[in-house]
Amino acid sequence: MTTGDRIMITLMALYDADSCVGQCNAECYDAAGAECGGCICGGMNHGAGLSRAVRNTLKRWGGWLDRATEANPAIVAADIFPESVTR
Ligand SMILES: [Zn+2]
Repeated sequence: MTTGDRIMITLMALYDADSCVGQCNAECYDAAGAECGGCICGGMNHGAGLSRAVRNTLKRWGGWLDRATEANPAIVAADIFPESVTR
């Protein structure tokens, strides 16, 4: 079994017209302990591991996007692994 070569995937990323304003990636789903730093997933993927985090994201990204755009109406686009969504 190999434990090297971790796959780093961004599960969800949000953008305003200029730049990335938030993302959920390996730093979140691979986190060991510690607090969740206000990730856009609401902590749901925190420490969940890749496969569980992918399932969470596919199931719930719509709600996360709604919540994020409520807080920041400037968000115009989102990448949801493995696709891109533009509003
Ligand atoms: Zn997250």
